[in-house]
Amino acid sequence: MKLLENKIAIVTGASRGIGEAIALKLAEHGANIAFTYLSSEERAKALEEKLSRLGAKTRSYRSNAAVYAECEAFVNAVTKEFGTVDICINNAGISKDNLLLRLTPEQWDEVMAINLKSVYNITKQVIRPMMKAKNGSIVNMSSIIGIKGNAGQSSYAASKAGIIGFTKSIAQELGSRNIRCNAIAPGFIETDMTHYLKEGDASKSFLEKIPLGRFGSAEEIANTALFLASDMSSYITGQVISACGGLNI
Ligand code: NAP
Repeated sequence: MKLLENKIAIVTGASRGIGEAIALKLAEHGANIAFTYLSSEERAKALEEKLSRLGAKTRSYRSNAAVYAECEAFVNAVTKEFGTVDICINNAGISKDNLLLRLTPEQWDEVMAINLKSVYNITKQVIRPMMKAKNGSIVNMSSIIGIKGNAGQSSYAASKAGIIGFTKSIAQELGSRNIRCNAIAPGFIETDMTHYLKEGDASKSFLEKIPLGRFGSAEEIANTALFLASDMSSYITGQVISACGGLNI
């Protein structure tokens, strides 16, 4: 059964990793996909081809999620090209890990802008077409680190915790318009972002803390995003779904 037949979905930061897996999963379920990237143009074009092969109407946009004007232009272009926006997956994100003693103001600002301000930048734009349609699902990519914190990741943790507060507020603001807003808090997922965790002894000590005993896959996060994007979760809003192999227990 296809869960998103003819829906229009935005996915930010879909050229690699979790974003790419989400774009493919939503397209497999019948959605048309407008997605952004920042630097991986070749990968974005390759993803366009894969999505087209799945039968989706698709277009990639080079758009910096941290820059308000670029997000405004991106969503305007999407509504012009695709007609509306039904689903918005705020996925773009980075980590710049450093102990607080060494964390520079520039590193702090960059992480907050790309991870947190980006969610405001895009969500503020997509709620216009969603309010008009009295329908919408927004899914924000938080992290288990935003719930638990982690030494050396204060900026990342603060940005991901901020996303949770934003998500719960927007759920309350827009529930009466039938717009739902939820967050996913992944644990350790195998992508470029966590590549360094898989090396040496560090990997063993991370795995010992995960009840399921393994890192997650991008596809497992995409399955969670599909659930939250679709009517399968029609009575769920303002929630944070932990997809972390039990690491939060
Ligand atoms: P990734 O493999 O490093 O991919 C990051 C994606 O974000 C890329 O497509 C990148 O585009 C895009 N991006 C980065 N900065 C951007 C910007 N300023 N504007 C637009 N796009 C931008 O990361 P990932 O592991 O898939 O993570 C995806 C999301 O899940 C992030 O929000 C991350 O914090 C969250 N998360 C990941 C994990 C994990 O274990 N991997 C765990 C919890 C949460 P380009 O390649 O074009 O630069």
